[in-house]
Amino acid sequence: MTGISVRFAPSPTGRLHVGNARGALLNWLFARKSGGSFLLRLDDTDTARSTDDFAQGIEADLRWLGLDWDRFAKQSDRFALYTAATDRLKSSGRLYPCYETAEELDLRRKIQLSQKKPPVYNRAALKLTDDDRAKLEAEGRKPHWRFKLEHRITAWDDIVHGRVEIDAASLSDPVLVRSDGYPLYTLSSVVDDGDLKISHVIRGEDHVTNTAAQIQLFEALGYTVPTFGHFSLLLDADGGGLSKRLGSLSLADLRDQGYEPMALNSLLARLGSADPVEPQLELATLVAGFDLGRFSRAPARLDPHELDLLNAKLLHAMDFAAVQPRLPAGATEAFWLAVRGNIGRLSEAADWWPVISGDIATVIEDRAVVDAAAETLPAEPWDGTTWKAWTQQISAKTGAKGKALFHPLRLALTGRDKGPEMAPLLPLIGRDRVARRLRGM
Ligand code: GLU
Repeated sequence: MTGISVRFAPSPTGRLHVGNARGALLNWLFARKSGGSFLLRLDDTDTARSTDDFAQGIEADLRWLGLDWDRFAKQSDRFALYTAATDRLKSSGRLYPCYETAEELDLRRKIQLSQKKPPVYNRAALKLTDDDRAKLEAEGRKPHWRFKLEHRITAWDDIVHGRVEIDAASLSDPVLVRSDGYPLYTLSSVVDDGDLKISHVIRGEDHVTNTAAQIQLFEALGYTVPTFGHFSLLLDADGGGLSKRLGSLSLADLRDQGYEPMALNSLLARLGSADPVEPQLELATLVAGFDLGRFSRAPARLDPHELDLLNAKLLHAMDFAAVQPRLPAGATEAFWLAVRGNIGRLSEAADWWPVISGDIATVIEDRAVVDAAAETLPAEPWDGTTWKAWTQQISAKTGAKGKALFHPLRLALTGRDKGPEMAPLLPLIGRDRVARRLRGM
């Protein structure tokens, strides 16, 4: 073991979307590249919104991507640790009770903004006397608890951003415990990262300001501060916010739409990095080429067209063994090799199966060409050269060439005007079927 340990920490309040998948994949690649360990942590302290179904869905989504985890933790099993941490912070004077209601805080923020002041919590609760607090509690108010930040520059060397320095005086003291006693993410995440010895916290740059407060919290609780890396956010290809078309799609949607998980992995492993996006059939290849240090601060642009292209390229390179369980029953390797170059999603292969194995509606576009085809139909056995020899004969007989020759034949034999190469398809359709189709039966 290298001592390197990372985690992916989704909240089971919904299914994973493409943005989450990127966080999972980058952490997983980092762990596998460094010989470290990967923890799946479910941030389910919000018991009202977290469900077992979503938790199972997240695990299924990660398995679909091929991402396995070495360790598993659930925050709902760990409340005792958060309470112990809270007690430590109270006794060291770093956690203080506040009694403002959400409406009061909101009003104060609005006043600060109208005075062009930053909307930072003014620490009014620190000035309360014991009497004030007793009075407020007698009114029925229950305190929430804030972490008292030290007003100093808090800095770290970020794997993606380089040196980051944040003046903690510009931040509100974060609320760590709600008035109903529930610990909030800022606390539970630090306790878990510290307790489970996470060495590298790799997450989206929307957490950069949290990081300054969390570094102080790691220190206040006596934990080793991990190394941080904040990857940039995903934007739409045209520069808008997170893509409605792709970025906010759930992995379950993408799976239902027939995308290959490795198409998504290939895209997400490189998007936003200096390395080119390339279709890869194996996660191991993505691991070998992974370097978080090559990710840039510029937003990563997600282009649905790029995913489609990667998906098609992967299918074109996939072996029969890799797809056989998802092909129609009875489909052969020759069938797969004949159609794989012509499909964008694996499900399209099934559309071609009846063309070689069943009865389909065909179209007679040019009677003369089709009749000549029937008259010159070669005897079996057929192979990959039969198509060329046969169509040369049909051409010689009718004078038809190019599109005028091939289009009516394709329509008569497959019922469609586009599709895979006819040369490998023809022997698969077989002489009996071809003869019947040429007779319009
Ligand atoms: N549950 C948190 C989130 O999904 C985890 C953030 C983190 O990685 O620290 O935003």
